[in-house]
Amino acid sequence: MTVTELPSVFTTLESEVRSYCRGWPAVFDHARGSRLQDVQGRSWLDFFAGAGALNYGHNNPRLKAALLEYLQRDGVVHSLDMSTGAKQTFLERFDEVILRPRGLDYKVQFPGPTGANTVESALKLARKVTGRESVVGFTNAFHGMTLGALAVTGNSMKRAGAGIPLVHATPMPYDNYLGGQVPDFLWFESLLEDSGSGLNKPAAVIVETVQGEGGVNVARPEWLRGLADLCRRHDILLIVDDVQMGCGRTGPFFSFETAGITPDIVCLSKSISGYGLPMALTLFRRELDIWSPGEHNGTFRGHNPAFVTATHALDYWTDDALEKSTLAAGEQIERALGQLVDEYADLGAHQRGTGLIRGLSFEAAPELAGRISEESFRRGLLVETSGPRGEVVKLMPALTTTTAELDEGLQILTDAVHATASAR
Ligand code: PMP
Repeated sequence: MTVTELPSVFTTLESEVRSYCRGWPAVFDHARGSRLQDVQGRSWLDFFAGAGALNYGHNNPRLKAALLEYLQRDGVVHSLDMSTGAKQTFLERFDEVILRPRGLDYKVQFPGPTGANTVESALKLARKVTGRESVVGFTNAFHGMTLGALAVTGNSMKRAGAGIPLVHATPMPYDNYLGGQVPDFLWFESLLEDSGSGLNKPAAVIVETVQGEGGVNVARPEWLRGLADLCRRHDILLIVDDVQMGCGRTGPFFSFETAGITPDIVCLSKSISGYGLPMALTLFRRELDIWSPGEHNGTFRGHNPAFVTATHALDYWTDDALEKSTLAAGEQIERALGQLVDEYADLGAHQRGTGLIRGLSFEAAPELAGRISEESFRRGLLVETSGPRGEVVKLMPALTTTTAELDEGLQILTDAVHATASAR
């Protein structure tokens, strides 16, 4: 399709900080499931899924019906953290469908509606509980744009935006960062055990089980178990940031279930409302709930339309059908990417990922990822890039994408890779 100029208001009035709209120059208008249309009626398959906020697809009909019914009867929309029927139903259902079957005795905090909000609350709580300041994050981690979250985020461009020193955070090598040359946690554990190391004992470690923004880096389950064990032995709290990988992205509801670990604190946002409505949760072990009333508050912690859709989204988790279909769809992508990897061995083609988070990179031609994303857009597919240099094509379709849609999108991607690589 031809790429058209955007109406000038987007360039004259909207800030230079805008980003996704630059790579995808279209004025989007409506969407259903895995398809988006613009005002001119052009259509795209969406393998971006709101950066993980649309795991159940755009305007999921089951969730939409519940939302419309709630709005139609003048259900309370805004309520700070007042008790509402919508919140009660969500909490009861979340306990019944998610927490109790997994034996998780977590308290639930509504920290404000974004991923960064839940990360900030987790960091604050860990510091308050332990009385320590420092937090360990990992190379290539991404936790959000607010100052606390940015301090444990790796990306140097994003960090520079802070404008002040980002402190009380120490980066450690993520799984496979050192290419398996040293035993896991050798550096981390050595620093913890040496009173001369210069590392203040951390309050917490914050980790993503798969680094989505950092380049689709998957931590091995044994690495995550090793980390949980290290935290327990050294009395450090383990925070899993499941903002992007939670709500089924890797298969199970929580991405850490595969490793069999139980974090002390869990951050959830993005797809928890199920509908793309802003909502976040911070979950923590009951004993850690030492907050004073209102010590961490915010105006938008009680967005009832999000509670309504979140409650209905939990219907997907009453059995293991979605988990199974997600893993099968992930294998379908793995096979298609496998062919490209074989075809482009000379460009150092590589794939990584798990479940429905997948990445394709070309080590010998890192600039290809951005061009493949542009070419895919022209051919009717939305895929973004990730990694510190944008060197990874990142595939993150909705978990509800059909096999036929996946085939269609993978064919577009394959054609886009062929066109981009041959034009090189
Ligand atoms: N944590 C992770 C793992 C994320 O991927 C993101 C967003 N990409 C965030 C936190 C921040 O979420 P938000 O943009 O909603 O603040």
